[in-house]
Order: sequence, then structure tokens, then C-alpha cells
Amino acid sequence: MNGFRTRGHPIALAAVRRAVRTGRPPHAMLIVGPDGVGKTTLALDLAAGLLCVDPDPASRPCRDCAACRKVEHDNHPDLHRLMPEGAGDQIRLVQVHALVAELALLPMEGRWRVAIIEAAHRLNPDAQNALLKTLEEPVGAACIVLVADEPQSILPTVASRAARVRLGPVSRPEIAALLEDRGVADAARSTSIARAARGRPGLGMTLAALPEASIVADRLARTLLDLARADPSVRLGAVGGLVADGAALDAMLRGEGSRAAGVTSARGARVAPAERRRAAARVLAAWRDLGRDLFVAASGGGHELNDPQLLEELRDVASRVEMRDLLAFLERLDALIAAVEGYANPELVLDALALAWPRARAA
Ligand SMILES: [Zn+2]
Repeated sequence: MNGFRTRGHPIALAAVRRAVRTGRPPHAMLIVGPDGVGKTTLALDLAAGLLCVDPDPASRPCRDCAACRKVEHDNHPDLHRLMPEGAGDQIRLVQVHALVAELALLPMEGRWRVAIIEAAHRLNPDAQNALLKTLEEPVGAACIVLVADEPQSILPTVASRAARVRLGPVSRPEIAALLEDRGVADAARSTSIARAARGRPGLGMTLAALPEASIVADRLARTLLDLARADPSVRLGAVGGLVADGAALDAMLRGEGSRAAGVTSARGARVAPAERRRAAARVLAAWRDLGRDLFVAASGGGHELNDPQLLEELRDVASRVEMRDLLAFLERLDALIAAVEGYANPELVLDALALAWPRARAA
């Protein structure tokens, strides 16, 4: 029995197991997939496996030796973790330079130096280019794992030098089993959280710890559904409330619950641009989920729905909107999700979407 923590993802996990067992990991790996799906968990499984000092490679990571415990406590000198910092929520060039310098050195304790670059989609092109030389001329004992939600923001020159692993959704029973095993939810609650987690074990763990986040998420979905029946002025008037809920949800899910209280409205001057963007991104993600649920309901489905309690209402609205309009809306939404990440003004994007959201015909 070894200590891999990854749930689901059998193909990706098999590749990581093989790299650990043979002691021949790729010099660089790019793990992509949605937020909370298990990318960092998989990267840490690889790091622990490579750094573990158990004499039997098949038992690594043992989670018991000194090296495994250091990985667990995030203080292993050969494990380097980079994540966005500062106001712009970016991984800065200076961080990459420091990493590159460390990776050029021999490992301190283990056989490898392992770098995990979290939110690698937050590396700007300069920072990615700074990494490139290390990727092009790999040093023998370094393994770099890039973890990204949005692979399209990784430069092709960088992506092409990394073994690519894509993580899809994890099944509901696997997520429910994880929640029960960790003792964070009983059987009944773990089933309902697993449904709300939409294939993302990390989100499931967060929701289990934060019942109030589920309440805000439900309110957001209901507001959006109600807007399908509302006229344009009501829709525009609702955007401020949506952003406030998005900001609260974002703060809770990022573990900054206390800061949520300070966010009154994202139209207010007190809210930093990065926070407004993240708040809008939460609203857009909820909108996409709801739009997809609406589409599923219109097609007669419903078993896969995020919120079965909404099912009846969804079916009612779905029967009164044009499917063609809904599909066009979802396409536009996907494009705008990328735009909000980059340059677009979040409130203007939400205003535009509020007006473009298909209108339910009167019953
Ligand atoms: Zn170990």
C-alpha cells in the first residue's frame, strides 16, 4: 500500500506511479484541468514519490519517512513551489528567476529537485520565456510540474516541452467516498456535496467545510434563473448583487472568509481590480453551469444536474426559451470568460450578458 492521494484520474495516476517506480520522471510535466479537480494533489503525489526515501520504489510515497513528512509540511528543501502573489495575482519574473537558479543546483537531500508551478496560467509571457531555457536544456536532477486551469495561456514553446496530462471530472461516488474517508461529511451529505462538486474533489472538500458557500452558490443560481423571466432594467439592476455574491463566494472558496465582509459591492471603489475580476469569474462560472443545466433540462435529462431541487424550475424556463438563443449565449459566455481573465471590464461583461441571457416567453 502506498500513499498516493489522487482520487480518480486512473490514466494520469498510472503515469505518475510509473515515473516514481522507475525513477525516471519527465523533465517537465504540464497538468491541466478545472480548478479543484486534483491537479496540485497529483503534482504533490509525484513530488512525494520522487523525494521519498523508502528503499522500495514500489512503496513510494510512503508518507511516513522524513522526506515524505517534509513534503507534507511543505518544508522539503528540494521541493520548490511557485504560486501567484501580489496585487496582480501573477507569478512574477523575479520568482521564476529565483526558481531557475535553484533548479540549476544539485539536490540538497534527495535524488531530485522538484518544482511545482501552481496556477501556471498566471505566468506572463516574460516569465514563461525565462523558464524556457531550463525546459530546453533540462538539468539532470530537476523535474518541473506546471499546473494550469487554462492551457491556452501557456506558450506553445513551453507546452511542447512538457509531458501533458489532462485531468477530467472525477466520478461522484469517488468524490463521496473521499469526503467520507476524510470524515468531513456523513453518507447522505457527502452524496449531495459530491453532486454539487461537479467532478472536482477539491471543490467537494471546500464545500464540505463551508456550508455557507453552498448557500451563496444556490442563491447565485436562483438569481440567474429568475433573470431569464425579467425585463432588461431588472436584469441590469441585478448585476451589482451578482458581483457581490461572486465576491463573497470567491473569498470563501479561497479561504478568505473574513474579507468577504468588506466587499459590499464590486461597483464600489474599495474593491481591487483583481478581486472584481475573480468575483465576475465566479458569476460567469455559475452562469455557465446554470446554462448547461438549462440545456440538459430542455433535452429531457436531469440526472446529472447540479441542483435537482432546481430541476422543476429549470424545466419550466427551458420550455420557454429558444434553444438556439441559449446555445449562442453559452458560446458567447465561453469567449467572455477568457476576456474577463484578461482585459475586459468585468461589470461591462456582466451587463452585456445580463441583456443577452435568453428571455423566457410568458407562460
Ligand atoms: Zn516516504
